[in-house]
Amino acid sequence: MNKNIAIDGPAGAGKSTIAKLVAKKLGSIYVDTGAMYRAIGLYMTENSVDKSDIEAVKNALGKISLDIRYEDGVQQIILNGENVSGKIRTPEIGSAASAFAVIPEVRSGLTDLQRELAKRSAVVMDGRDIGTVVLPDASVKIFLTASVEVRADRRYKELAQKGEEVNIKEIEADIRRRDEQDMTRKTAPLKQADDAVLLDSSSLSIDEVADRIIEIAKEKVPTLREVKAF
Ligand code: C5P
Repeated sequence: MNKNIAIDGPAGAGKSTIAKLVAKKLGSIYVDTGAMYRAIGLYMTENSVDKSDIEAVKNALGKISLDIRYEDGVQQIILNGENVSGKIRTPEIGSAASAFAVIPEVRSGLTDLQRELAKRSAVVMDGRDIGTVVLPDASVKIFLTASVEVRADRRYKELAQKGEEVNIKEIEADIRRRDEQDMTRKTAPLKQADDAVLLDSSSLSIDEVADRIIEIAKEKVPTLREVKAF
């Protein structure tokens, strides 16, 4: 039985914060697949690639080299030699990521990379299609959700804390748009895997959700243990 944990869910449900914490507690590697789609979104935006011109998209994909590195346990995403981890967190790049994520050629390249990472070590991987498509044999699958209002409020606070000028209504509209696009696309839409456990984080703290996931993981994979110094 593998020790992989798949966490899927809509934008702003808290996946990355929680997945990071769970990975740390279990000594697994955290893989943020959204960052990979965001790096593609960034390249396509910077190079003005039209998403409806499939030949132009394929041509652009041929020029992209994506690398994943870890610095102090934190995933860094390297796009054609440049560390773009700090550049990809804007709502604009989130929308570009979502727009290009509907394209099967984009998905298949990233899916291969994600599977390769999961082969190398035990992972906690978050995204939209991890339990359904990328790692259908993951031992633990979680579908993490929260109400749109709670998700928008969390994103708002996160961006405001970074000093960015943000409007809560715009964030909410952006989240609704992305949910719709992610859930209705033909290839690997966002949906709960049949064998995933549904967790609603609307009224739970980060630690409560992480603890619940660890409990579920230990039930499913008895050899999983928390890494503790003392
Ligand atoms: O999770 P994050 O908000 O960083 O993801 C950005 C976008 O990338 C999502 O809205 C989604 O369209 C796309 N994505 C995806 N499949 C994944 C992860 C992200 O389609 N596994």
